Amino acid sequence: MIMVKTVKRGGKTYNVCEACDYGYLDEETARACEAWCTKHKSCNLEITKKGEYLGD
Ligand SMILES: [Zn+2]
Repeated sequence: MIMVKTVKRGGKTYNVCEACDYGYLDEETARACEAWCTKHKSCNLEITKKGEYLGD
C-alpha cells in the first residue's frame, strides 16, 4: 500500500503525490495520481486539475 505524504499549506492539509508534487485535499485522488504517475511516468491532466502544484 502506498503511503501518501501530507503537507500543510495555507491552513489546509494536502495529500501529496511524491512523483509529481501535486497536492490534493482528498487522499483518494492523491493515491490515484501517484499510481498513474508511477506507472506512466507522466501526469494525468484529469487528475492534476483537481489539485495544486506544491513544488518549488
Ligand atoms: Zn502525480
